[in-house]
Amino acid sequence: MKITEVEAVYPRYRQVAPSWRTHFWQIAVRLRSDTGHEGWGYGGGGVAAVEVVNRHMRELLLGKSVDSADDIAALWDLLYRQSLPYGRSGVAVMGLSGVDLALWDLLGKAEGKSVCDLLGGVKRPKVRAYATGMDLAWYRDLGFDAQKAPVSQADEAQVVAWAEKARGLFGPDALLMADCYMAWDSATCLRMAEALEGYGIHWFEDLLLPDDVEGLAALRPKLKPIQLAGGEHDFTHYGFAALARTGALDIWQPDLTWCGGLTAGLRIAELAVEHDVPLVPHRGGEVWGLHLLAAGYGEDLGELVMGRRDADRDVLWLDEPGPVEGCLAVGAAPGFGVRVNEAML
Ligand SMILES: [Mg+2]
Repeated sequence: MKITEVEAVYPRYRQVAPSWRTHFWQIAVRLRSDTGHEGWGYGGGGVAAVEVVNRHMRELLLGKSVDSADDIAALWDLLYRQSLPYGRSGVAVMGLSGVDLALWDLLGKAEGKSVCDLLGGVKRPKVRAYATGMDLAWYRDLGFDAQKAPVSQADEAQVVAWAEKARGLFGPDALLMADCYMAWDSATCLRMAEALEGYGIHWFEDLLLPDDVEGLAALRPKLKPIQLAGGEHDFTHYGFAALARTGALDIWQPDLTWCGGLTAGLRIAELAVEHDVPLVPHRGGEVWGLHLLAAGYGEDLGELVMGRRDADRDVLWLDEPGPVEGCLAVGAAPGFGVRVNEAML
């Protein structure tokens, strides 16, 4: 089939708190083919990525054939190369991610197969999910036994109080993680690790700054047994190959809607195996990462940003699988198996 239409859209969000997310949060990308199929993808980079897709990538894609994963990989390489003078990472690759995921969705729809089936079929009928947020009792009621606390605003006493409560609620075998979102320096990381000794924290996420790879590599052995996780601000297999050489991270967390889509995710997964680094995609419990995990790539652990039980939230993708007893399963519907919420476009 040939691509006949490419359009990126910045959805109308109601619930995005004022921050960089106001104009630079997630985008939707729609592709159409001459066979009448439609593919949807999810990217980052907001209004800037919309411009990248609609004013540049679109003209490169129109008329191109998509009949296999190899065709998608070739288109990825083309878009990466052509956007390289202003791209390589950041907004351009976030736009490319949306296009790439839409290409996979389109191929799945045309072949009547789920993306997981395109990747070889379901190897994990149930993917263990972890809940990100602080509504601990709700996550326990939903059957989660893995939780990550956003702790960038918390002081030491609050972080310890969280660990105490979470360990009590979820039990001795639960996975507990803390995400400081670049708010801690090395001294704070070490102080927190000491304060949390005995709580069996699985990983600390997003420490220092992602560009401070030397600082991260120096810190990593000192935090043991806590693992140092990161990578949501890193891009493409080239970026992760460079990271691998630094030894900065114990666990890689590429975001498939930012790092270059599923095509980049597959290449990063190959590198992760080569370097023996666990791969736990950022927001990997959303369908864009879940199909990769269900197909047996990476670790058996998918993130769901759950927030609070009573929160009113934007739902851009309909029919997305939710957690059942703390696990997620991909459906058999073609592509990623979700529909866009037209009311938000
Ligand atoms: Mg994070």
